[in-house]
Amino acid sequence: MKYDVALTLYEGKGSVAKNIESINALKNLKPSDKVFIKPNIVFWATVPFPKWGVITTSSVLCEVVELLKDYGVSNITIGEGIVTLKPNDKETAAHAFEYLGYNTLAKRYGTKIINVFDSSFEKVKLDDDIEINVSSDALHSDYLINIPVLKTHAQTVVSLGLKNLKGLLNIPSRKKFHNPDETKNLHYMISRLYKLLPKGTTIIDGMYTLERGPGFDGKPHRSNIIISSENTLSADMVGAKVLGHQPDSIPYLAYAAAEEHRDADLSDINITGMPITDVAHYHEYTFPYTDDGTLPEKLHAMGIQGLSYPKYDLTMCTYCAALNGAVLTAITLAWQGKPWDEVEVLTGKKMQPSGNKKHTILLGQCMVNLHKHNTTINAIPVKGCPPDPMETVTALHKAGIEVNPLIFEHLDSAPSYFMERYKNKPEFDEDFFTIKG
Ligand code: SF4
Repeated sequence: MKYDVALTLYEGKGSVAKNIESINALKNLKPSDKVFIKPNIVFWATVPFPKWGVITTSSVLCEVVELLKDYGVSNITIGEGIVTLKPNDKETAAHAFEYLGYNTLAKRYGTKIINVFDSSFEKVKLDDDIEINVSSDALHSDYLINIPVLKTHAQTVVSLGLKNLKGLLNIPSRKKFHNPDETKNLHYMISRLYKLLPKGTTIIDGMYTLERGPGFDGKPHRSNIIISSENTLSADMVGAKVLGHQPDSIPYLAYAAAEEHRDADLSDINITGMPITDVAHYHEYTFPYTDDGTLPEKLHAMGIQGLSYPKYDLTMCTYCAALNGAVLTAITLAWQGKPWDEVEVLTGKKMQPSGNKKHTILLGQCMVNLHKHNTTINAIPVKGCPPDPMETVTALHKAGIEVNPLIFEHLDSAPSYFMERYKNKPEFDEDFFTIKG
């Protein structure tokens, strides 16, 4: 069997429709279908921040909604679950939906917009042992339109259609995905999730592609690429290849391919549009670390001594990941050229102390729980899930690293500093993230 994938360029309005129609990717859609659209809003801030390669463009989303209306579909829901550091935060998602023009789509076309955390979840078995809670609205739709961004991911190499669906889980299930069990790790979980959801079409938005994703601190490129397929795995394999990564080298794509009794080498994919080689470009997926993995290369190059900050692993979930970036930035700014007093910072759910440090900062409740009985370390716990930013400052100070507390007090506004990089670069156009009323 051959799987059709359309790979074309975005050349203005009508490009998405042209892409989809080139392989008739909506042929199984019925006008009476209840359609659920899952964009990717991996992060949101109420201050200006770089969205290029991070968030699904509203231009692509709007075109998809208009195409569905042309097909006669009237029951359309757009749903997303945006994680923020504040529990029960409703304002951030509401701000995102308004800014991105989703409310305009609601007024214009009667599209429903839901924050999945405001709606219900349903227990579903991922395998014989693992249960997860998935958005009921998505589960009970007839047709799923999945619109991820064409980007890399620091933990999973790429984040495309399969990975985008993790945004339909409740928070405990998302944490469960970062399982410390090696045999049922994050890759395993992602490779099974898409099979639980209704079939439909995946449309990968590659208007902007992103290196060192998935967040606003990555490096975006204006790439103008659209990829679609009725088979999510096929779209993802082509997407990975366009980003310069072999699909069979990415565990969750290889696992999913094995489940579908396929090879993850594109041999059963029929590409319409243009050859992958016309647009493929290697995208780095992670910031480099030292060979022994104990310090980001950038900190090592600065000459930082007396600190071990092992590279995050697959078990670190979004909450800790968000804080982790701030901690590294604060440490970088606190360096005065004098070696610190043998400090290590452990993260995620399974890191072990080196055994030769004077201070061991345990960042997050998982690390605190794992090492609570360890009498061989001088533990400095940062409790909580998410870990408390100001407790993090206290812990770092206790270990002799005088980070500036202001960085942690103003975490909400930090993303706006990254906008500086995009000044006078018209290819990074904010208009793609709005829908004119
Ligand atoms: S403490 Fe961190 S790693 Fe543990 S569940 Fe919470 S966010 Fe995930």
